[in-house]
Amino acid sequence: MPKIGILALQGDFEAHGRRLAVLGAEPVFVRSAAELESAAGLIIPGGESTTMLKLLHAEDLLEPLAAYGERRPIFGTCAGAILLASGVSNPEQESMALMDIDVERNAYGRQIDSRVTRFTPEAEFAARTNPGEMEAVFIRAPVIRRVGPQGRVLARYQGDPVLVEQGRHMVATFHPELTSDTRVHQYFLSKL
Ligand code: GLN
Repeated sequence: MPKIGILALQGDFEAHGRRLAVLGAEPVFVRSAAELESAAGLIIPGGESTTMLKLLHAEDLLEPLAAYGERRPIFGTCAGAILLASGVSNPEQESMALMDIDVERNAYGRQIDSRVTRFTPEAEFAARTNPGEMEAVFIRAPVIRRVGPQGRVLARYQGDPVLVEQGRHMVATFHPELTSDTRVHQYFLSKL
């Protein structure tokens, strides 16, 4: 049973834990650098990226997290995706730059501040999980404005990438822990 860390300083970490347990992985809630070490991979959940950054600084966890990402896979959802990006706008913000993507925060605007929608992931995603439409929950989500040459888009919504992997890492701008579809976590576990 692989141990998967979930950064548990702030935000939606518990739902990720339940999802991992359903898929046969052991969730480890991470609040310190020591807790990080036993984890074969890490999830950075949704929440508020500015608050998360402040807490990461307060706990001296930002550098250990970035160093961990040099060795092990990290999956960032929503605020977690913002922390993994190389460029953050609206407003600009420090990030770990573990993935060569640019994100604009809260960029879907008021109309879809929060919404449940559907899209069909790309064939590469379906090949490692299962084909078919996916229900997705967006909550004050960032838009991925640029994906670098090493990135691979696994799903789009309204033409914009919403699920992207680059090497060992992966980001989603939606919340796969809030629907019953287990494929996104399954895909991440397949990257271990
Ligand atoms: N709007 C949040 C931010 O900018 C992200 C929202 C989320 O994680 N659901 O950090």
